[in-house]
Amino acid sequence: NTAAADEAARVKAADRAHVFHSWSAQELIDPLAVAGAEGAYFWDYEGNRYLDFSSALVYTNIGYQHPKVVAAIQEQAGRLCTLAPGFAVDVRSEAARLIAERTPGDLDKVFFTNGGAEAVENAVRMARLHTGRPKVLSAYRSYHGATSTAINLTGDARRFGNDSATAGVVHFWGPFAYRSPFYSATPAEECERALRHLEDTVVFEGPGSIAAIVLETVGGAPGVLVHPDGYLAGVRELCDRYGIVFVLDEVMVGFGRTGRWFAAEHWGVTPDLLCFAKGVTSGYVPLGGVAVSGAIAASFARRPYPGGLTYSGHVLACAAAVATIGVMEEEGVVEQSARTGAELLGPGLRTLAGRHPSVGEVRGLGTFWALELVRDRETREPLVPYNASGADNAPMAEFAAACRKAGLWPLTAGNRIHIAPPCTIAPQDVAAGLEALDAALAVADAHTAG
Ligand code: PLP
Repeated sequence: NTAAADEAARVKAADRAHVFHSWSAQELIDPLAVAGAEGAYFWDYEGNRYLDFSSALVYTNIGYQHPKVVAAIQEQAGRLCTLAPGFAVDVRSEAARLIAERTPGDLDKVFFTNGGAEAVENAVRMARLHTGRPKVLSAYRSYHGATSTAINLTGDARRFGNDSATAGVVHFWGPFAYRSPFYSATPAEECERALRHLEDTVVFEGPGSIAAIVLETVGGAPGVLVHPDGYLAGVRELCDRYGIVFVLDEVMVGFGRTGRWFAAEHWGVTPDLLCFAKGVTSGYVPLGGVAVSGAIAASFARRPYPGGLTYSGHVLACAAAVATIGVMEEEGVVEQSARTGAELLGPGLRTLAGRHPSVGEVRGLGTFWALELVRDRETREPLVPYNASGADNAPMAEFAAACRKAGLWPLTAGNRIHIAPPCTIAPQDVAAGLEALDAALAVADAHTAG
């Protein structure tokens, strides 16, 4: 209908005129005008519905527009939208309590931020002040955010063009059995060699100069990298041995994404600092933070913490967090995420892999999976090269277009599709998504050797 088309055109034109988009060459993008969203779906002005297998940017863990969270935000807005961070406020105290109760070990104090990168910035600042040491170690295959420290900790190519301020950051190789940087044959060997490489890095950098090791508990943006059993415990042990602060970045994987409240629970590991954001409010209002151990909190018991934010613990955001955690508890969202992964997504994706030669590996947990797309299963040559753009990236662009044509909004990254629907996705929507993927993978198969 023409009225809808006109409205879409108006929204798009205003976007093109005035919105400066992230990560983009401004004249080379064509954003879809979205009219609304609910649950696992959003739709455009023409009424095309998309099943959102990206959960926005992997954050709508309870789907779009959950009525209870919407109502809680409305109620809070009517009562009190904001107060300065220095006051004790009911919903802020309650959000901190609910988060502290769910984080592992003695991570009992919460420093609130507006999002993930600020959480990482403050975790690094705390680690440096706590230890009095300057350097921070992080993995090449990682993403930690786009502020100055966080983008330099980031190992992936988004660091390029930003790495004028790498001071104090040292990258290392984490374990990745499918593309082992250590030529190992088994996950156990990969774990052992990755730990030895990390310890060598620590020793040669000088343990007394290292404040923190920062790791994603499960690598998110780098490709749903599930560490082999024993790796995180090994890093914990290494940190203890050398007096290094262990920071786990759970910005993408916290709050149910992997089928646990926090992914660290899978391996029974407790970091000294844990960064969160995204799922804590399902993104309805921006919120992030750092959960802080007793020992590090004690560092700032008698000296001021030299960091803060105007909106630290924003009241509306904290109300959204309280409501979101409440909904997750009432509806068993974390358990549902685990079940959906074990019973539907994992088996369904493995079945697709059996049918499509372009799928090199299936990996994941809960509602967080990746298909590693390859030109050749034997050589594992990626469907597109690392950091590909333009013509080099055409096979992935065609694959993504085929997903959208089938009604599925995909999250593609490098040579992978990441499968991250809401943790609340219904079984019939999982089935619909797998069917769309089945159709789209034929496009990727056309680029394979076979
Ligand atoms: N850390 C991880 C693991 C992330 O995945 C992200 C974002 O995707 C960030 C940090 C940065 O979070 P934000 O974009 O909210 O600053």
